[in-house]
Amino acid sequence: MIPGSFEYHRPASLDDAVGLISSLGDDALLVAGGHSLIPMMKLRMALPEHLIDLQDVQSLKSISIDGKKVSLGAMVTQSELIASDALCKVCPIIRETSLQIADPQIRNLGTIGGNVANGDPGNDMPAIMQVLGATYLLTGPNGEREIAAADFYEAAYFTARSEDEILTAICFDAPATGHGSAYLKQKRKIGDYATAAAGVILEMSGDKCSAASIGLTNVGDTPLLAEEASAILVGSSLDDDTIKKAIAAARAITDPASDGRGPREYRTHVAGIMVQRAIALARTRAA
Ligand SMILES: Cc1cc2nc3c(=O)[nH]c(=O)nc-3n(C[C@H](O)[C@H](O)[C@H](O)COP(=O)(O)OP(=O)(O)OC[C@H]3O[C@@H](n4cnc5c(N)ncnc54)[C@H](O)[C@@H]3O)c2cc1C
Repeated sequence: MIPGSFEYHRPASLDDAVGLISSLGDDALLVAGGHSLIPMMKLRMALPEHLIDLQDVQSLKSISIDGKKVSLGAMVTQSELIASDALCKVCPIIRETSLQIADPQIRNLGTIGGNVANGDPGNDMPAIMQVLGATYLLTGPNGEREIAAADFYEAAYFTARSEDEILTAICFDAPATGHGSAYLKQKRKIGDYATAAAGVILEMSGDKCSAASIGLTNVGDTPLLAEEASAILVGSSLDDDTIKKAIAAARAITDPASDGRGPREYRTHVAGIMVQRAIALARTRAA
């Protein structure tokens, strides 16, 4: 299908982009890689009168790692995340997750900012950003503010971002040296959104788990941070009984729709399997 007509804007700086979105109001939408928005426009589920393309805003395109502090500019593409050895060294779960998003063509244009700002529960990065305890930086006409990824998602396609704000960066502390992580995603075919997926970051102290964080993708209206399941693992040796309890706690917070990916009971079941396998893999990767 052909999208509705719109006026195209291509600001060269963040200030210009903020000026445009402030003056054009809710008739305007930002476009980054376009791989979520353009399909919605073709389906006429999004009908902006103005599109503000962020491609020329160079200040949004850098990956910065300063000691433990990591900052990802909103316009960094999924391919650039994969290509960054420095990022992979401190936080390998980002590369592992990016590689499971869509296909190389989409990853060459799709951005981390678009992926987390979109609010689609099928997007893979939001749960990972919650697991990492990330903060999103938003800039609008009233200046800059921060919001935790854990507080950003309100419902499918509804977030705490106001219409005149631009997500500029995603910031987090790299997990501790020696941590283990894994992102496991069951999907119907390569390039598909998850039937259910789980991201896990673990720290071990001897044979005891000293820290754990578990997130779930596409088994609710929002990404889910499985805090109770994570707490169950801490202090344990990740024995079978503890893992069973953690899986039950993770399944208890899911609320997937029955759809082409399967009935809700199946998707809840798969979420538990992804949690189990991601814990096991993260455990083997932890030093
Ligand atoms: C066939 C197909 C399969 C896919 N499979 C997956 C998958 O398995 N997993 C997955 O995670 N994704 C998947 N995607 C989505 C893809 O990863 C998108 O690229 C991504 O979700 C959105 O990034 P984008 O840069 O393309 O954003 P856009 O499509 O440009 O924008 C998405 C939304 O975010 C808003 N936005 C963009 N940038 C900003 C910003 N800086 N500040 C505020 N708002 C902003 C836009 O206004 C829009 O509402 C798939 C897409 C396709 C077409």
